[in-house]
Amino acid sequence: MTEANSKPQYSSIAILYIAVFFVLPILGTLTAVGLLFYSGITWLEVSLLLTMYVLCFIGAEVGMHRFFNHHSFEAKYPMQVILAILGLMSASGGLEYWVIGHSRHHKYSDETGDIHSPHTSRDGLVFSNQLQGLYYSQLTWHFDPANGRNTDDLNRLDKLLKDPVMFKINELHLFWVILGFVIPAIIEGLITWSWIGAFHGLIWGGLVRVFLVQQFIASVNSVCHLYGDRPFKTNGLSTNNIWLAIPTLGGSWHNNHHAFPNSAITGLEWWQIDISSWVIWLLEKTGVVSDVKRPKPSMIEAKRLTT
Ligand SMILES: [Zn+2]
Ligand SMILES: [Zn+2]
Repeated sequence: MTEANSKPQYSSIAILYIAVFFVLPILGTLTAVGLLFYSGITWLEVSLLLTMYVLCFIGAEVGMHRFFNHHSFEAKYPMQVILAILGLMSASGGLEYWVIGHSRHHKYSDETGDIHSPHTSRDGLVFSNQLQGLYYSQLTWHFDPANGRNTDDLNRLDKLLKDPVMFKINELHLFWVILGFVIPAIIEGLITWSWIGAFHGLIWGGLVRVFLVQQFIASVNSVCHLYGDRPFKTNGLSTNNIWLAIPTLGGSWHNNHHAFPNSAITGLEWWQIDISSWVIWLLEKTGVVSDVKRPKPSMIEAKRLTT
């Protein structure tokens, strides 16, 4: 966008991505609501939805977020490849978003430059209406042409993508997302030996799953910067929300995360359920992950806000 009031122009590839990543999952979810009333949902479909959801959310939260952005642990190369593919399959953004956009979110938290703050958009407009901010950070920031990148950011991404395998995997983002639609369709199609089964598998394990993963990841950037507790002093308005802890696999301990961004653990109290940290612990035990970063108790206490 060159003029302040001009309409954003999208290339045909950008329109294809928007259709596959956002429009199809929304249409699939609306179809699923209809199917619920018409034919209900089977245990196979619930299993496909949950399994694909957890695997793809692990790819996004453990892989893209805690590993590729924050380097909160080391991982053997095949594990990096698996995390990258699962993360891309989640349709929550490629390495461009998770390396560049998320770093900006931490650097400029809730100030001009934060790409999806519910308090301000990137061009400096400060939201006075919570609903407007919530809507922007939950959905429309994806389509905001003001979310450009600067040269420093591109250099950082280039460094990561100089690995040709990782470059190719990232380039095939659309393929992984479509594969994530096809896998559950094939599984239910084969088990029920029917085309309608394949269609139901596509809807529940593919489209509804992507819709839910996207909405819960977005809720960390929207709800967890508007409502909830702030036990630690951070440079933005991040919050902790217990009710989002399970669906976000621990991502909603977001004030903890902003206080200790390089920690592989976000659930800092014994009662703060952080499923991603359990996954990292399991991977550490099997030896595919090492050097897991955890803040020392003295560091935690030093940052805690006193009431
Ligand atoms: Zn945040
Ligand atoms: Zn982060």
